[in-house]
Amino acid sequence: MQIKYFSPEELRKKCENGRRETDQLIKRLKKRDPDNLDDVVHTLHDEAFSRFDCLSCANCCKTIGPRLIPADIDRLARALKMKPSAFTEKYVEQDEDGDLVFRAHPCPFLLPDNFCMVYEQRPKACREYPHTDRKRFYQLLSLTRKNCETCPVIFSIVEELKYLDW
Ligand code: SF4
Ligand code: SF4
Repeated sequence: MQIKYFSPEELRKKCENGRRETDQLIKRLKKRDPDNLDDVVHTLHDEAFSRFDCLSCANCCKTIGPRLIPADIDRLARALKMKPSAFTEKYVEQDEDGDLVFRAHPCPFLLPDNFCMVYEQRPKACREYPHTDRKRFYQLLSLTRKNCETCPVIFSIVEELKYLDW
C-alpha cells in the first residue's frame, strides 16, 4: 500500500470525489459487520505506519486537536508546572458539543518540526488517533469516514478497503 502525504484541503477534495464509493463501503460494512474486519484493518494500519512517518504530516495536530479529559489536563498541567485551573484558563475551552478542547489550532504544543512538545504526557485522544488499531473498528466507521478528510493514512486504508470483497 502506497501512502502519500496530502494536505487536509487535498484530502477534502479527494474524499468528496470518492464519497459515493466510501458511503457504499461503510453501508456494506455496517450491514455485515465482518468477523475479519479488525484483522484486516489492523494489518493495513501496521503496514501504513511502517511506511509513513507522522512527523512528515501532523495534519491532525494542525487542524482537529484532541478531545481532552480531566486526567489529560492534570497530567499536562503537572508537566508544565502549572495549576490545572491556570492550564485550563490558558489552553482549554468547551466546544459546541460541550467537549473540552484546546483553544488554538494548530495545537499549542506542536513544534515547528512537527514534534510534540508534550509527547510523553500527550492526551489520550492523541495516543489513540487515528483509531485504526482499535478493537471493534466496526463501531468507528462513521468517525473514520470523517477522519479521511484529515489523515492521509486513514484515507489510504479506506481506499484499500474499497477493493476488498466484503
Ligand atoms: S498534544 Fe501533541 S500529539 Fe496532541 S495534538 Fe498537540 S502536538 Fe499533537
Ligand atoms: S495520525 Fe494521520 S493525520 Fe496525524 S500525523 Fe499521522 S498520518 Fe498525519
